[in-house]
Amino acid sequence: MAKIADLLAAGPTYSFEFPPPRNEEAVLHQQKVLLELEPLGPSFCSVTYGAGGSTRDNTLESVLYIHHHTSMVAMPHLTCVGQTRDEIEGLLIRYREEGLENVLALAGDPPLEGPDEGEFTYAVELIDLARATCDFSVGVAAFPEVHPKSTSRESDRRHLADKLRLADFAITQFFWTADHYFRLIDELDALGVDTPVIPSLFPIINVATAKRFTALNGATWPQWLDDRLEGLADNAQEVRKIGVEVATQLGQELLAQDPPGLHIYTTNTSAAPKEVWQNLGLSSQDA
Ligand SMILES: Cc1cc2nc3c(=O)[nH]c(=O)nc-3n(C[C@H](O)[C@H](O)[C@H](O)COP(=O)(O)OP(=O)(O)OC[C@H]3O[C@@H](n4cnc5c(N)ncnc54)[C@H](O)[C@@H]3O)c2cc1C
Repeated sequence: MAKIADLLAAGPTYSFEFPPPRNEEAVLHQQKVLLELEPLGPSFCSVTYGAGGSTRDNTLESVLYIHHHTSMVAMPHLTCVGQTRDEIEGLLIRYREEGLENVLALAGDPPLEGPDEGEFTYAVELIDLARATCDFSVGVAAFPEVHPKSTSRESDRRHLADKLRLADFAITQFFWTADHYFRLIDELDALGVDTPVIPSLFPIINVATAKRFTALNGATWPQWLDDRLEGLADNAQEVRKIGVEVATQLGQELLAQDPPGLHIYTTNTSAAPKEVWQNLGLSSQDA
């Protein structure tokens, strides 16, 4: 059973996310990280996709490595903005031919420079194409604190609800306060949508990177987090320790409300995600 929709129907999924490696050295490093996390038995591993173009082939190679050389279920992220229908369809067909059964359908962000030759505007269009190309289990993105480009909370939730009526599941952007996730679920419930929405955890490894991603995602960096990390930016060991503690505590608050799963960003490291996993006592359905 390798469709994430089926896994979710059987119980909560616990998963890891990896960025695509950028060079040969990073490929070897990622393979080592994958080997270190594999014994935990994650329900699936996802690999992000460089909307800018530079790392697209790396996503394919990374996903194929997980699929063919590990026991883990692999899911590629796939963005559609700035690409032609033929390009996307070609990649979906390749994934289908390789035996992959899941895809995370995303809009991505328009290229900063150059002409936008894409034929897509929103993720929802990619769901239709993925369904038509192959019987993939299709996931989408959800932003608990609202997508940064949304014109209003109401319209963001309406578009998300429409997307979730077509998709099998969603994975959230990361956030630092559990209430953001609970509020999102309540708002979707009020719109009559109960598609599983898996919350994400981001163990902080580097303060500047975590702050930059938080701002890019339109999420709130709370004062209490600044207070906990104050003066520690250059102390990698202490930052990692606090990052694990913060992710563990957030994970516990989320698990207390029985979410459909947890998705942990690895940033291609194994120690912090593994500690969070173990602190939370996670185990896959097969374990
Ligand atoms: C879990 C997760 C994984 C991600 N992985 C990647 C990745 O691998 N690579 C990458 O480049 N990016 C990734 N992203 C970022 C994402 O691609 C960007 O944030 C992008 O801007 C939005 O993608 P989306 O799929 O949410 O877009 P959409 O669902 O299309 O929404 C984008 C915006 O348009 C609005 N909208 C949607 N439909 C309509 C409509 N019909 N009319 C008007 N407005 C509408 C929405 O409210 C929202 O404001 C990820 C995000 C998350 C949460």
